[in-house]
Amino acid sequence: MSLNDLAIDVPHAAAGAAVAELRALGDKVLLPGDAGFDAARTPWNLAVVQNPFAVAVPRSAADVVDVVRAAVLSGLRIAPQSTGHAAAALSETDLTHTVIVSLKGLRGVEVDPQARTARVLGGSLWNDVLEAAAPHGLTAPHGSAGDVSVVGYLLNGGLSFYGRAHGLAVNTVRAVEVVTADGTVVRASADEHTDLFWALRGGSGAFGVVVAIEIDLLPIADIFAGMLLWDAVHAGEVARAWAQWTATAPESATTALRILHLPPLPELPPFLSGRSLVVIDGAIEETDAAASALLEPLRALQPEMDTFARIPAPALVQVHMDPPEPSPSATWHAMLGELPGDAVDAFVAAADEPGLFVHELRHLGGALNRRPAQGGAVSSLAGEYALHAVAMVPVPEAAPAATAAVHAAVAALAAWHIDALALTFVDAPGADRSLGFGAARARLRALKLDYDPANLFAAARPV
Ligand SMILES: Cc1cc2nc3c(=O)[nH]c(=O)nc-3n(C[C@H](O)[C@H](O)[C@H](O)COP(=O)(O)OP(=O)(O)OC[C@H]3O[C@@H](n4cnc5c(N)ncnc54)[C@H](O)[C@@H]3O)c2cc1C
Repeated sequence: MSLNDLAIDVPHAAAGAAVAELRALGDKVLLPGDAGFDAARTPWNLAVVQNPFAVAVPRSAADVVDVVRAAVLSGLRIAPQSTGHAAAALSETDLTHTVIVSLKGLRGVEVDPQARTARVLGGSLWNDVLEAAAPHGLTAPHGSAGDVSVVGYLLNGGLSFYGRAHGLAVNTVRAVEVVTADGTVVRASADEHTDLFWALRGGSGAFGVVVAIEIDLLPIADIFAGMLLWDAVHAGEVARAWAQWTATAPESATTALRILHLPPLPELPPFLSGRSLVVIDGAIEETDAAASALLEPLRALQPEMDTFARIPAPALVQVHMDPPEPSPSATWHAMLGELPGDAVDAFVAAADEPGLFVHELRHLGGALNRRPAQGGAVSSLAGEYALHAVAMVPVPEAAPAATAAVHAAVAALAAWHIDALALTFVDAPGADRSLGFGAARARLRALKLDYDPANLFAAARPV
């Protein structure tokens, strides 16, 4: 049982008082029936229907304080949410007596080019950071999608195409400004509230609503990155070659291999629409000559398309071709300790699972495996590869089949699973999140009882 399951019980008679308490906050809070409530409760993952008590739409840290205090007085819980990319993970929690605090209105980034840092407001997206950092020749360890939030990604770990060289993205966090359960804004850093700083870096939204975060930026203005693409008839040959290639690839290279089954959609370019493909993509932090030499064995397989080249750092977020708009999906994942030939064959065969949209392997290892000295609760990731399956859920009735497909695709490599999970990829009910927290879990749970004894905060990945 997770702490999230210990939901506060709001007696029916108290619901009216709670409504009055929230109504006193004016248009910062939307209740069922209000104009805008349905849009505000709809997460990025459109397969998930959220039925909260209310949705708060704060525009400042002071607004967040007001909302947290009102929820405490009303006996309601709080679920911080920036985009709802991880709404499927949160769906395990009953939101009937919960106020979703939607941070969409709290965006903004200030870059300090000398210090190579950024202060990022609580609901900002990675696209916001990349845009602000690029004019200074700086970038950040974002993931494959620019519309994921900085806080939701970083404080759950964060796997980027800079990962093998620079480690888990959470290790770039310098300070967190968070509204805690007592309704105050606390700054946690290496010098202030050090226990909370440790806990937030992995424990995320279970400890409060983050209103701002300070991060180190990477001094990278451009990067050698792109994709190689083949028809899926070549999947076996390409996957075997990539597995061998990754076994000796330097830490400067972080890549992924995917088998994609794309629907015939008019909005997709003709080279993608309705096709099954195998794609290798990623980034290589080397000179053009060294990166090209490194790619030689993969280019020798004569891809139909090869976009690897030096690109401006902000363009890296386009390389993986993640959906540009909210989409309905189901996912499942596992971590692999190795990828021998039998595992590659099982991966390729499992990609034919009916209903599967994407079957993906991300190369990990390198700095991702190493814990930095001053790291937080989650600061490294065990395993050499992440295995990740995605199925689309175009209508609610498709959910059971989509869930079955992603489970089957991941189970096909069960012989190589290890006892670990990447928290950011935990995005479905039923995942054993203790594998994501590992050895940090006991201390995280003890700190949760110190900082949030009434279990006010509901998180997508509860501690
Ligand atoms: C298309 C797609 C691509 C992705 N690519 C990658 C990738 O390359 N690498 C990777 O590591 N992950 C990736 N992810 C996973 C993603 O990083 C995680 O699901 C992440 O947690 C989403 O954060 P969010 O804030 O956008 O989502 P939300 O659902 O809004 O938030 C997730 C959780 O983060 C916490 N949280 C968010 N904002 C706050 C806040 N201001 N204060 C307190 N807590 C907060 C809460 O606990 C919340 O439940 C991807 C997901 C999708 C759907």
